[in-house]
Amino acid sequence: MIKIDNIINEHNVKSVGITGHINPDGDCIGSVLALYNYISYNYPDIRVVPYLTGKPGEFSYLNGFDSIITEDDGSSPDMFVVLDCSVKERIKPFVRLFDGASVTVNIDHHIPTGEPFATYSHIDDTAPSVCEVLYGALDNAKFNKETAECLYTGLVTDTGVFKYAATRQKTMEIAGELINYGFDFSEIIDGVFYERTFTQTKALAKAIENTQLLFNGSAAYSYVSVEDMESAGVKASDLGGIVEQLRLIKGVEVAVFIYPVQDGMNKVSMRSKKYADVSKYAISKGGGGHMRAAGFSTFDGINKIKQDIEAYLEKELS
Ligand code: AMP
Ligand code: MN
Ligand code: MN
Repeated sequence: MIKIDNIINEHNVKSVGITGHINPDGDCIGSVLALYNYISYNYPDIRVVPYLTGKPGEFSYLNGFDSIITEDDGSSPDMFVVLDCSVKERIKPFVRLFDGASVTVNIDHHIPTGEPFATYSHIDDTAPSVCEVLYGALDNAKFNKETAECLYTGLVTDTGVFKYAATRQKTMEIAGELINYGFDFSEIIDGVFYERTFTQTKALAKAIENTQLLFNGSAAYSYVSVEDMESAGVKASDLGGIVEQLRLIKGVEVAVFIYPVQDGMNKVSMRSKKYADVSKYAISKGGGGHMRAAGFSTFDGINKIKQDIEAYLEKELS
């Protein structure tokens, strides 16, 4: 296991940039801001900047949220860290910052789809969240409340509040240690996992209306179109949790949800419950993820996506 403190000291690091994957989720923002808080608190002389392509409002309670920079700011940090992402492609538009750094670090939990690309890499694809992996790369004697709250957010979001199959004893032990820092964990769970805005609720209604059950009810398939999104007044970033609702339908093993992201591109989110490996299909389409949660983006239209996925599901669910 790599240790962030050792890397900082060995390389005499004076400035750090941190990023995660595009369209950041709770684990991504949580890990980036956890490391941001950890370094700010323990190394006040180091300049540290979190870079992310988006700032979803439900995470605005995290310390450091206001410091997130969404574009390349032209700076040249000595050290650049990539979290919750193991392909350089998915850190655009921050590749220049990565390439210019003298020391680079990659910590992740996705199934690897390419060669290691950083000076130091630690990928644990058995970990339910990258926050759990990052926890092991930090010195827990040097945490503060802000760092703990960020790590906890990633643990909660990527385990579906400690219920997905990858959740393990260590996850619970780390969560138990973190809640002793005294943040309001009930409010975090409600805010990042259960709460929906009214427009998100309307989008969910649309998605549920469009749902079809396939293969004797073992697959749930749905989509929202550009028109659906316009009529509900939602953005792509409002739709992240919908696939979860489809997965919960009784008897469903695989849930698939498709939505337009930008300029004709569609995003496909896949979830499975017990045995189907959705990562294989997502990886074959140039995406990635985990056995039970994976995704990819494509310029294919909704009908073509559905046709191709049905062929995969027929094999996977038979
Ligand atoms: P999502 O459906 O966006 O919540 O993603 C489910 C899981 O798959 C997450 O761990 C994502 O990071 C991963 N994932 C989604 N899209 C991609 C992609 N295009 N490339 C690699 N991993 C992805
Ligand atoms: Mn993520
Ligand atoms: Mn993650």
